[in-house]
Amino acid sequence: MTTSTSSNDTTAMPAAFLGHGTPMNALTDNVYTRAWRAFGQRVPRPQAILVISAHWYTNVSVVTAMAQPRTIHDFWGFPDELFAIRYPAPGDPALAAEVAEVVKPTWIGQDRDTWGYDHGTWSVLVHAFPEADIPVVQLSINAEEPLEYHLELGAKLAPLRERGVLIIASGDVAHNLRLADRTQQRRGFDWAERFDDSARELMVTDPGSILKLRQHPDFRIAVPTPDHFIPVLYLAGLAQSAAQVPEVIVDGYQFASVSMTSYVIGI
Ligand code: ZN
Repeated sequence: MTTSTSSNDTTAMPAAFLGHGTPMNALTDNVYTRAWRAFGQRVPRPQAILVISAHWYTNVSVVTAMAQPRTIHDFWGFPDELFAIRYPAPGDPALAAEVAEVVKPTWIGQDRDTWGYDHGTWSVLVHAFPEADIPVVQLSINAEEPLEYHLELGAKLAPLRERGVLIIASGDVAHNLRLADRTQQRRGFDWAERFDDSARELMVTDPGSILKLRQHPDFRIAVPTPDHFIPVLYLAGLAQSAAQVPEVIVDGYQFASVSMTSYVIGI
């Protein structure tokens, strides 16, 4: 099958959804951060990285288009050590323009002076790509759009994988901080485990049907707001368009109410 030119071609970059959990993971060595590190070591060196982070949840579709994005500390109540972290990877204005081009007629704007790298991006990249020498572009999550939009937008990004761009979506499939039990580091609440198990069943068999989760009895408690859930839709869309089935690289829960399951395709 050496003549295959389909999107299953092994030259396509892998893509991932990483369950990022607490910002403290940036400073921690644990089962999750070791999995992100191993993932970064397994992928061929990307030309650039495109990240869809739960923490750029806004009312427009826009990509970072500055040459040197700043590191944003978009949280409070954490140790100074976390605020001291910088992720100095360069931006990639050419890739930002390419993202806008490849998704047309969907409109994506160019952000030249507002955002940067939020902790959804850098808390995982400090582990996966600690050298910070690969250009990074962030794509915002448009909060005004329905879930279908994000699944479809994920699929539209597929050609970037053929051009050596590593796409990483960063969120948490189940994420309810109001119910967080900070003494818990591995097990989840029953509802979180039920929801995450159902998500996994769909992701590893038929990722294009991921939105069936909206009918899940635990959807409202696992997804009280859509911001952390939406990133996995990007990987589901990419997987569906490439006829690739995601595999789980690590799973578990933080605070019992946040699922840490991470998925990859193309490795
Ligand atoms: Zn988060």
